Amino acid sequence: MTAADRQAVHTGGCQCGAVRYALFAEPANASICHCRMCQKAFGSFFAPLAGVSMSDFAVTKGDLSVFKSSDAVERGFCKACGTPLTFRYLTHGAEPSSEGLVNEIDVSIGSLDQPQRVKPRKQYGTEARMPWFDDLHGLAGAQTDETTSAETLGLIKSSNRQHPDHD
Ligand SMILES: [Zn+2]
Ligand SMILES: [Zn+2]
Repeated sequence: MTAADRQAVHTGGCQCGAVRYALFAEPANASICHCRMCQKAFGSFFAPLAGVSMSDFAVTKGDLSVFKSSDAVERGFCKACGTPLTFRYLTHGAEPSSEGLVNEIDVSIGSLDQPQRVKPRKQYGTEARMPWFDDLHGLAGAQTDETTSAETLGLIKSSNRQHPDHD
């Protein structure tokens, strides 16, 4: 059975669209990881990740580039635009994880076409969590059109190279 024969539960991909993927199951363990290696890999305060069994994951367009951040972990990304896409422990064998996943692979929740459908339920790597993490939601906020000129917004729209949120 190929990816084309199966009904995707989620689709996603990188910003430029060179790499697209599909999940054929609902992720079982959505989380955010604050560990220092995830911070670096994502250029962010934490990595939002959601996992499925390897058999429920398929790259449907292009190729993942891979960086082994250690002998235990492989991180997949798009080499054309840099979007972090996957995270996988190389040490996990064929035994199901506590969530029942076999040979688990995680995808970055932000790279899903509908990231709002996957809510994190757990935090990992809390030893490196930013000391002001709990204050972020209270920061003053503004929408993009309140802080960006009409001219710049027009240019972004007319030259947008981001792949749309669907295949
Ligand atoms: Zn890309
Ligand atoms: Zn981590």
